[in-house]
Amino acid sequence: MCGIFGYVGKRNDAGSLVIDGLKNLEYRGYDSWGIACKTDSKVSIEKDIGKISSIKSEDFSSNCSLAIGHTRWATHGGVTPQNAHPHANGTETIAVVHNGILENYQQLRRDLESKGHEFKSETDTEIIPHMIEEYMKETGDFTSAIKKSCEAFEGRFAFLALHTESNTLVAARRGSPLIIGVGEDGYFIASDIPAFMNHSRLVQYLDDGEMVVTDGESILFSSLKTDEEIQKREIEITWSVEEAQKGEYEHFMLKEIMDQKDSIARAVNQNEEQIETLADAIRNAKGTFLVGCGTAAKACMASEYFFSVISQKHVNFAPASEFKLYHHFLRPESLLIVVSQSGETADVLEAMQIAKSKGSKVLAIVNVEGSTIDREADYSLLINAGPERAVASTKALTGHMAVLMLIAYALDGKLKEGRKVLLETASEINDMLNPRYVDFVESVAERIQDQKDLFIIGKSWNYPMALESAIKIQEVSYVHAEGFAGGELKHGPIALIEEGTPCIALMGDDEVKNDIISNAIELKARGGFIIGIAPENNESFDVWIKVPEAGTAQALVNIIPVQALAYFLAVKRGKDPDMPRNLAKSVTVK
Ligand code: GLU
Repeated sequence: MCGIFGYVGKRNDAGSLVIDGLKNLEYRGYDSWGIACKTDSKVSIEKDIGKISSIKSEDFSSNCSLAIGHTRWATHGGVTPQNAHPHANGTETIAVVHNGILENYQQLRRDLESKGHEFKSETDTEIIPHMIEEYMKETGDFTSAIKKSCEAFEGRFAFLALHTESNTLVAARRGSPLIIGVGEDGYFIASDIPAFMNHSRLVQYLDDGEMVVTDGESILFSSLKTDEEIQKREIEITWSVEEAQKGEYEHFMLKEIMDQKDSIARAVNQNEEQIETLADAIRNAKGTFLVGCGTAAKACMASEYFFSVISQKHVNFAPASEFKLYHHFLRPESLLIVVSQSGETADVLEAMQIAKSKGSKVLAIVNVEGSTIDREADYSLLINAGPERAVASTKALTGHMAVLMLIAYALDGKLKEGRKVLLETASEINDMLNPRYVDFVESVAERIQDQKDLFIIGKSWNYPMALESAIKIQEVSYVHAEGFAGGELKHGPIALIEEGTPCIALMGDDEVKNDIISNAIELKARGGFIIGIAPENNESFDVWIKVPEAGTAQALVNIIPVQALAYFLAVKRGKDPDMPRNLAKSVTVK
């Protein structure tokens, strides 16, 4: 959600550098953009609604060595140029970009207005520069005025503030991520590494409740509450610039779908001792809960079936946003497993806090190393999928499911067997994703591209995959899609089937195979156009998309052609699959 990027240092092209960096944060989802550059004693601000991709960075190259920029995902105030960030104080010596929500901004704004401050936007953000200005009258100092302001703010936030007179860049964080890039000739601060990875591969993480101050030469981390200095490690980024780029593909989404040729094998490549320890933690826990949001939630839901079938263990799934009232079940002996691609999802972080307040242990399965969830969990496993930039999550899902399956096998004392099943599946997926196969999925998308509705059915672990299929199709192609448990059709949804309605049936060669075939036949009898995704053809299918037979890992292979189908539907319908409307990548607000 929203992208923040700032630079201070010796370079004099901070403006164009910040614009270029923001372009690498576009994947996070946004509706407007803006930049503030220090020029003499004031800031010069340019901002607008729409996309930053068409903005020429050369136009911002005029002599500037301190700049901040933002891609906004509006929460408070409409999508207008005035509401776009940065926002400045009255004398235009302070500029701020912000991610999150200041929940008590209405009261604070009234107080500031009564002291003579004038506001130009409807945002919560605009109170920040005014508040800093107000406190500077007391403290005389930029950084202590920021600390005092943060004390007054309620809610989750991350912001960058620049001050022209002291040539200082400050970042403060309570909730949303901010990462510092240590460069040879200055410091970068951004919501994610791609913003600055062409310039720096050494990073420092700002933690919750902390602030960092830099003039480009030195840097100082401290707590927002005290002046005590905090020492930070410098961590080297392990992934390459290429991994975070589109390469030969037109869109990140397709690249990331194709990355599953090897990302699943990377996810399976876990430290065995660690997996056994985590299996023990589940074995000994009095109640294990799995939570996630969106696609990650579907991985959690599928794992209820993995644990049931593979290790006969009952675990409980809840969407993270619904976890609040589960605290009644939590005890110090309970275990919470949180699943997240970004490691920054606000609802998941809240679920962790709830569990921690009850003394329960938290295990995280995340993609982004160094993310808040990765660092704050008691144990954390990385799925090593590499950067996922398309808003629609693909390779993170199969990585999450692979790790959860591995733990389920370990719980049954069969870790080696689990690794074998998953590595064989990974190699089958590698074969499956050949150019002819992808062309065939594209041709299926072409056949159904003008349909208004699409239904997906599955049973067992293919049921959460049917729900996931619906999300994937909705979010990128905007076709109305709904997923159901095959057995639930007769209890309502079948009334929606008309002549020619496309229906996808997800199947495996397993104990529910005959049931789901019956469900597909029921749909066909009402005129449904049946697209079977299965290891074997069936006479009920109008189109068969073949997938390898994968036993307990069937969910991992079945979802991949649907991801590709969603992608091609989006492209054929003229939508940008990488940046779907209204959505953001890492959802850092509740
Ligand atoms: N609440 C702020 C606004 O609506 C920040 C939005 C964001 O995180 O992009 O402007």
